[in-house]
Amino acid sequence: MLTTSSLAPQDIDLSSPLLSLHPITSRRQSVLPEVARRGLLTDAEPLCAVIDLDTLDELVAQLQRAYPAHVVALHTVAAKSLALRPVLKHLAELGLGCEVASPGELQIAFAAGFPAHRIIYDSPAKTVSDIAEAISHGVHFNVDNFEELARVDRAVTAWHGPLPRIGFRINPQSGAGSIEAMSTGTPTSKFGIGLADFEQRIIDAYVARPWMTQVHVHSGSQGVSLQHTAGDIAAVVRLAEKVEAAASEQRISTIDVGGGLSVNFQSDEITPTFDDHARALHEYAPALFSGKYRIATEFGRALTAKAGMLIGRVEYVKQAGPRTIAVTPIGVQVATRTVFMPDAWPLRVEVYSPEGVPRSGAHHAYDIAGPACFAGDLIATNRQLPKIHAGDLIAVPDTGGYYATNHFSYNSLPRPAVYTTRAGTGTGTRSFQIARRAQLISEVVAEAGEARLIDLP
Ligand SMILES: *Cc1c(COP(=O)(O)O)cnc(C)c1O
Repeated sequence: MLTTSSLAPQDIDLSSPLLSLHPITSRRQSVLPEVARRGLLTDAEPLCAVIDLDTLDELVAQLQRAYPAHVVALHTVAAKSLALRPVLKHLAELGLGCEVASPGELQIAFAAGFPAHRIIYDSPAKTVSDIAEAISHGVHFNVDNFEELARVDRAVTAWHGPLPRIGFRINPQSGAGSIEAMSTGTPTSKFGIGLADFEQRIIDAYVARPWMTQVHVHSGSQGVSLQHTAGDIAAVVRLAEKVEAAASEQRISTIDVGGGLSVNFQSDEITPTFDDHARALHEYAPALFSGKYRIATEFGRALTAKAGMLIGRVEYVKQAGPRTIAVTPIGVQVATRTVFMPDAWPLRVEVYSPEGVPRSGAHHAYDIAGPACFAGDLIATNRQLPKIHAGDLIAVPDTGGYYATNHFSYNSLPRPAVYTTRAGTGTGTRSFQIARRAQLISEVVAEAGEARLIDLP
């Protein structure tokens, strides 16, 4: 076991009584002592993720209240942000749908209990089988390109049952946000059909296919402004109106506005909110809320990021020239984007005592290193933090989406456990649930391939 330095009074932060803290902050500060008391971090599992169901539920409620009550809305969670079966099951029970983009995500959505009519399939690389599967199950989907449309035509001709909602994914070709790799609406994006390039062909395709009743745009994600996103949604609403004019009847009844609401990674404030999103749509695309259209949404990060954190135990604190480095189990395997693109995906880092009490006192510059064997495996550099000791706990907020559940198996590092938690009622302590067990080392070995080479017949 590591030695745990005992807490001196000056290590305990008395300046901010729990009551005046942001609810997300105080929840996090109540999770850490429980993680310590329950011994959830060990030599075998020095790292875990915790999802706060109270925060998640609040975000879902904010989403469900944000749009006008007269608008029929299918709110889906993007499976890729949080592919955790019991948490998705909980979200299904709250009434959400699920946006999926691969056969695996589709089966996870089914396993989590989402009914087919609340699933939207958005992969840009659907095979013939994927299309047939979506149609036969009644899963809504969006067509990414004209070649896919030819496959869909054949599948629709061969199918004699009711059809799900089928739409085009439109690329508004309106330019990038602040993170090029996250911008789906550039003139040359790999996603969807370019509106500037192909508007007339898109309209003709809708007019010729009365079963195409949806249009989709997802011009996210992180780093794209609300105004930019709302402008793109307004462009597809105009497209729906042009299709109506060309067909002399309303053809498009569902506008799938995608996800892509940015998350504030600087503090626990939720900004922008789903209300801000709804307001921007009101301003840029008022027809969306005229009552003529139903809407679908596909939020990932905005629903999930603020609800989760990574927690890891500091193994060593060492000096290298002028650098002070805290060596932790939190690295590229769970924070892949942050490690490879630290400027685009900065994360906050908090230091707690081994008992889970926030460290305070004079700050020093630290690099927070992960366990992987390459020099760049750092989740923060030159960060001003209170003095860190071996055995301390590091919490990384805002990692409820796209972190622990988007594992990268560098160095054969195992997938950490993910726990969910809720505040107890009354005086109670928190409850914790296992959402995903930590991967066993034997499972890591099993994933390293066959025991010996196997000859093909
Ligand atoms: C990833 C993705 C989303 C969710 O994006 P966020 O930025 O997490 O909200 C929604 N729709 C599609 C098609 C996606 O690829």
